[in-house]
Amino acid sequence: MPEKKNKTVVAPSRQELLRLIPKVDEFLDWVADSTQAPRLVVKGVVRSILEERRQAILGGEPVAAAELSREAMVALFAERLARKLAPNFRTVINGTGVVVHTNLGRSLLPEAAMAMLLQVGARYSNLEFDLETGKRGSRYSLVEELLCELTGAEAALVVNNNAAAVMLVLETLAAGREVVVSRGQLVEIGGSFRIPDVMAKSGATLVEVGATNRTHLRDYRAVINENTAMLLKVHTSNFKMIGFTSEVPLGELVALAGEFGLPVMEDLGSGCFVDLSRFGLAKEPTVQEVVAAGVDVVTFSGDKLLGGPQAGVILGKRSYIEKIKKNPMNRALRIDKFTLAGLEAILRLYFDEENVFATIPTLAMLSQAREVVDRRAKRLLRLIRQPLAGHCRVTVADVESRVGGGALPEQGLPSRAVVLEPLAVSVGQLEGVLRSAPLPVIGRIEAERYLLDMRTVADGEVAALARCLCDAFDGRKR
Ligand SMILES: *Cc1c(COP(=O)(O)O)cnc(C)c1O
Repeated sequence: MPEKKNKTVVAPSRQELLRLIPKVDEFLDWVADSTQAPRLVVKGVVRSILEERRQAILGGEPVAAAELSREAMVALFAERLARKLAPNFRTVINGTGVVVHTNLGRSLLPEAAMAMLLQVGARYSNLEFDLETGKRGSRYSLVEELLCELTGAEAALVVNNNAAAVMLVLETLAAGREVVVSRGQLVEIGGSFRIPDVMAKSGATLVEVGATNRTHLRDYRAVINENTAMLLKVHTSNFKMIGFTSEVPLGELVALAGEFGLPVMEDLGSGCFVDLSRFGLAKEPTVQEVVAAGVDVVTFSGDKLLGGPQAGVILGKRSYIEKIKKNPMNRALRIDKFTLAGLEAILRLYFDEENVFATIPTLAMLSQAREVVDRRAKRLLRLIRQPLAGHCRVTVADVESRVGGGALPEQGLPSRAVVLEPLAVSVGQLEGVLRSAPLPVIGRIEAERYLLDMRTVADGEVAALARCLCDAFDGRKR
């Protein structure tokens, strides 16, 4: 009965397990033929796996001898290497219904802009070279004229983002002096951008006027003195006051400032060139309207409602813009050639006003009719209903999309979502599995249901999204 002894399973001791771990060179030999990846990367992965196994054994974690076999180690290596070689920057499916989603990259650039980016990235260009004179040129001249023609402004400048734009304008025109702002506009925008803090950093002194809910023209007039540098109006972007409220219209501020020879600046936040009210959104002043109202300087983002690359656009009266351009801080905040290339392409699309709701993805998504979103939702439903039967209840329901980016916070756009109610796992688990899929899917959870708002999913993404959903419920593929 010699068999008997062998049948008693004796767990290997720590020492025995440690001896089973291959040496670095041995492990490298095992995987040498399986990959073309750079040796440095392969070595790094091999070392980290060996170290991890060693620590697990020393830490008393249950490690089976089989997990240290050549086969298991090579399989683990393949998995880790693939993860290591995959870019950190990943494409995701945005099923949140938030169109200008700051965490998911805000605006999507149209083909025309992408073509410019590729060209400018791979070839030399006239970025700062005047082709007429053969002399050094200004990078801003590539977009300044376009911005002025589109908005009616006298002059323009573009910096890294709108936060930088606000900082730069305040530092140039108001450092060491007072800036008057309504208490109702001392907002915090996402990502720790707070007007009082930005003001302090710029060296300007904030003078608050009015009450939280109401500010009158006489409140501004009462605080203007010889040390006042400007009147500032801030778009309250991501919050809305309702009830007994009042703000002073821009035109009245401009008239008041004019009496004292002071400039008025508006931080418009989103900054839109087109009226979105015909799509059921609240009427917001367009950049052109703000310029026409006589504002001296207006700033806004390039990648919110404008639908372009990240940038902070500064427009206004020539005398002020020239001063801002000369501020050494401007050099530190300057935009790169990719931003300029993307921005120029976007601006050119705005000249064809009739078509911007088709050519600019942000505007196309915002203006999409509920019926169009519904058709996309039904297409996804048809693709997944059968494969998911028994795993998940799948329906299509009414939801509300959001503009995002701090624009029009109260406004929902009537939309349609594919709704998943998993039968055997929790909604939270489903969310996690989809988020960590090879093509990550980001949806939202509402009342224990997982929603995919189809407004922010492109037609070309529906088939891939269906595969992600099927794989999520297919144990073999996970
Ligand atoms: C979004 C926003 C900013 C910041 O703009 P970024 O381009 O994100 O830097 C500043 N002010 C207002 C009112 C905003 O809505």
